[in-house]
Amino acid sequence: MSEQFKEPKPASPVQPVSLGLDDRFRFRCHQGIACFNKCCENTDILLTPYDLLRLKNRLDVTSRDFLDKYTRDCELDGHGMPGLKLGHRPGSAACVFLTPQGCGVYTDRPAACRYYALGLMSIRKKGSPTDEDSYFVVKEPHCLGHGEPQEQTIREYRAEQGVHKYDGINREWRQIVLKKRSSGPTVGRPSQRSFELFFLASYDLDGFRAFVASEGFHGMFDVPDEEYRKLLTDEELLLQFALRYLKQALYGEQSIPLRSGVAEARRKRNAERLAARAQLSDEERARVRDEMYEALLDEDKSGGRAE
Ligand code: SF4
Ligand code: SF4
Repeated sequence: MSEQFKEPKPASPVQPVSLGLDDRFRFRCHQGIACFNKCCENTDILLTPYDLLRLKNRLDVTSRDFLDKYTRDCELDGHGMPGLKLGHRPGSAACVFLTPQGCGVYTDRPAACRYYALGLMSIRKKGSPTDEDSYFVVKEPHCLGHGEPQEQTIREYRAEQGVHKYDGINREWRQIVLKKRSSGPTVGRPSQRSFELFFLASYDLDGFRAFVASEGFHGMFDVPDEEYRKLLTDEELLLQFALRYLKQALYGEQSIPLRSGVAEARRKRNAERLAARAQLSDEERARVRDEMYEALLDEDKSGGRAE
C-alpha cells in the first residue's frame, strides 16, 4: 500500500447523527467563553438573498455598495452559477464584520452564523410536495461551546437564533439553485445572461427594483397596480417576487401573467417556431426562454424607467 493511503483522513466535524426538532443537544456560546470569536477568525460563509437584504439595510448602503465592499465572488456549481461569500478582513480569513467585542452585525448576522454549531440538510422525498429538514451537530476542535453544561432542543435553539424567517425566504432560493445544479445536460449549459439574471434577482435587490420599475418590465407583465406599488416599497415582498420571477424566467413556471398582447405575440412566435421545427429539444426550449428574458434585460440596461 502506498504512503498516501496510510495517511489518516481528517475527521469531519459533522456528527453523523441526524436530529429532529425535538431532539436535544449540548451547546452554549457566550461572551465569557475562552474561544470567543475563534469561529469568526477563519470563515467561509455563503450568503443567501435574505442575508444580503438584512445586511445592506443594517449598514444603510445600496446592494451594489454592499457587494463591492463586503463580499467575495464564488461559484455555486461547476458551470459558473454565481455565488457570494462574506468578505474577509484584509490579509486574513477573519470575517469582515468581526470586532474585538464580537460580531459587529449581530442582530442581522447571516443564516449560516445563526445555525452554527448546527448543520441543516433539506431533502425532498420522491412524491412529497415539501422538504424535510434534518439537523446535525458540527463539532470543531476550536469550539468549546460543546463542553458547556447547557442543553436544548433543536426547536429551542432555532427560536433563540431567529432562523425561522431566514429559512422561509432562503428555502425557495435554495430550491432554485438545486434545480439549476441538477438540471444537467437536459437544458444545456445555462447562458451567461441567465446567470446575470440570477445574480440580479438573488443579490442586487436595488437593481432588481429598478428593473421592475422599468417600462420594459411594466409593458410585458400584468401585475395588479396595488401589488406593483407594494413591490416597489416593500423589500421582503420584492425579494419573494424576485424568486418567483427567477422560476418563471429560468424554468418556465408561469406565475406572473404576461400582458395579453405580449402573451399572444409569444404564442404566435412559438407556433411559428414549432412549425419550423417539428419538435424542439429541451435545450432549444431553454434557449428560446433565455432569449425572451435577455431581451428584456437589454431594454432595462438601455434606459427607460416608469414614473
Ligand atoms: S457575520 Fe458576525 S457571526 Fe458571522 S462570521 Fe462575521 S462576525 Fe462572525
Ligand atoms: S463557543 Fe464556538 S461558536 Fe461560540 S465563540 Fe466559541 S468557537 Fe465560536
